Amino acid sequence: MTIIGKIATMFAIRKEQPELLIAQAKAFSRQVPMMYLVVLVNAFALAYTHLESAPKALTFGGPLVLTLACAVRMLSWWRLREQAMDADRALKMLSGTVRAAGVLGAAFMAWSLSLYPYGDAYQQAHIAFYMAITVIACIFCLMHLRPAALIVTAVVLAPMVLFFGFSGQTVFQAIAVNVAIVAAVMIVILLIHYREFADLVAARVEAQKLSDDNDRLANLDSLTGLPNRRRFFREVDLHVARAREEGRGLFVGVLDLDGFKPVNDAFGHATGDRLLIEVGRRLEAFDARPLFAARLGGDEFGLIIDASLTADEVRQLGRSLCDVLRQPYRLPGVTAQVAGSIGLCPFPAGGDTAEQLFERADYALYHAKQNLKGSAVLFDERHEADIREISRVEQALRRADLVREMHIHFQPILDTAGGRTVAFEALARWSSPELGDVPPGVFINAAERSGQIVQITRVLVQKALSAVRNWPMDMRVSINLSVRDIASMETVEEIIEIVRQSQVAPHRIDFEITETAVVNDFDQARAALAAFHALGARTALDDFGIGHSSLNHVRLLPLDKLKIDASFVSDIDHHRPSEDIVKTMLELCRNLRIDCVVEGVETDVQRDKLTSLGASYMQGYLFARPMPASAVADWLAGESRRKIRAQRTKAVVRPAWDEEFGLQGLG
Ligand code: C2E
Ligand code: CA
Ligand code: CA
Repeated sequence: MTIIGKIATMFAIRKEQPELLIAQAKAFSRQVPMMYLVVLVNAFALAYTHLESAPKALTFGGPLVLTLACAVRMLSWWRLREQAMDADRALKMLSGTVRAAGVLGAAFMAWSLSLYPYGDAYQQAHIAFYMAITVIACIFCLMHLRPAALIVTAVVLAPMVLFFGFSGQTVFQAIAVNVAIVAAVMIVILLIHYREFADLVAARVEAQKLSDDNDRLANLDSLTGLPNRRRFFREVDLHVARAREEGRGLFVGVLDLDGFKPVNDAFGHATGDRLLIEVGRRLEAFDARPLFAARLGGDEFGLIIDASLTADEVRQLGRSLCDVLRQPYRLPGVTAQVAGSIGLCPFPAGGDTAEQLFERADYALYHAKQNLKGSAVLFDERHEADIREISRVEQALRRADLVREMHIHFQPILDTAGGRTVAFEALARWSSPELGDVPPGVFINAAERSGQIVQITRVLVQKALSAVRNWPMDMRVSINLSVRDIASMETVEEIIEIVRQSQVAPHRIDFEITETAVVNDFDQARAALAAFHALGARTALDDFGIGHSSLNHVRLLPLDKLKIDASFVSDIDHHRPSEDIVKTMLELCRNLRIDCVVEGVETDVQRDKLTSLGASYMQGYLFARPMPASAVADWLAGESRRKIRAQRTKAVVRPAWDEEFGLQGLG
């Protein structure tokens, strides 16, 4: 660049850096009032020392006109200051300042020099001093705006140095030299300062960009490219705040894939990842405008439907979304089929805060998963009542004296071929002084959610085993464990320790865990089951067939028994698919050489059907309802009597358990 080019750039405003413009305007804004104050006060002081000697037009008129001009500038600054600062506005302010610096600088200079002929030596010295000191103050104040500072220096100092340099007065010549040197040094410092200021702004811009990038990445799910959990909750907050302001509604949703885990287990994580990416793509492409989708983790997604829809409309939208997700996924080497269950919660009806809305959407999702897999459920008053009930149970449970209030009922498991009880399943019962008898389906769920289940299990295992001590030595007991009970080796060790102290031989115990517990953390479940095996106990997979059934689970876990869920039995006599499923599961157990217990047998027809399919271990109301510990001895004695009677009459074993043990009221 030529010297002239360089000088030209020094005098130009850098339009290409908007951030610099804004920073300059902001920095300069703070100094504007000070600068005009100095300029005007000094001008009035100079006018005052010339009151007697110079014409009034100069001593009064000059400062008045200059004050007016300064006031106009100040006013225009003030007006611009009140508006939000952007690059255009900053450029306008700064260009105006550069122009004003030239015009006002020249005007002040001309005015002060015009006083020169009227004064004596003192007054002339005052003029030189006034000009030098005022311009230095101005250069300081204009430091962030290089062109303005340079222009002021040029239009004021250059004429002044020339004027006094050629005045013929040695003192003034010396002053001219002094001022020229000071001005030169100040310009150098000004240039350095300005460059540093520009660099600082550039560094700040760069840092901001990096932090924006970081922020973007920190809010993005790296696999699917969707917003992540953190961003989701921030968005819910924002959307809710906006909807509240505008007095309208919206919906917060949670989506969970059904059948994702089996795909992941069977075809590997890479395939699972592809599937999730495709789900993300479908959510993004879902052409309902108001939908915001984020990945919360695993196979769980968060949704915001930012529109005041009716309940029917939002359900319809949920249904369409479910339909989209149900379409087959063509992945490398496999075509997978999964579904999505969705829970939705309306704002403001369902909740007021992001947490509340999410929690309730999650509750609605839980309902969808339990009752309407692959569909969308909208949180409503019924759920609200459920939640109140659950929280009542949770609170009562927290206050409960577990040892006194918890007890156990035992339900026989029969070997129907031999016609005898081989084990009892221990089933928890809670008689709460506050709530009365609470069904296990309710309080076990509540305890699982609150985490109290671990303490409850300890009490139940102790109670169950102390009952077992009075049973015949060949009678086994089946004990239910929850996800939380096997979620860490510490809790597993605690259970093992209770068994060790119970004086019941571990080989008489079966520990039942559900498929859901296995799916939750497969490796941990396997380690827990292995620990029970090492102790000498046996293990059973409960409620088989209704969870995320995967043959892999059965194959890879150290299991001794499967328990076929009652839901397959209830319609086995008139629903062909149920019959086929039970047949397959029995076959599977035979192949794996593990036992199989069929649960929920209620009728003779069901029992006969199951027998014809090859089932022998059965449990259900047909044989006996769960009974208190005190009834077990009578039950076993009755069974022996029945057997002897049967042998005597040589009758086929077809016991009428029901008649002998009034079945009512025990369950
Ligand atoms: P589960 O482990 O599947 O237990 C079998 C359930 O089926 C018991 O319900 C039992 O009373 C019921 N049942 C037995 N025969 C029949 C029948 O013929 N027809 C029908 N409809 N039902 C039958 P219960 O005692 O209400 O327990 C419900 C669930 O609560 C249990 O299901 C189990 O998941 C849980 N649970 C019970 N006790 C415990 C426990 O001590 N610990 C844990 N973690 N869970 C428990
Ligand atoms: Ca069970
Ligand atoms: Ca079961």
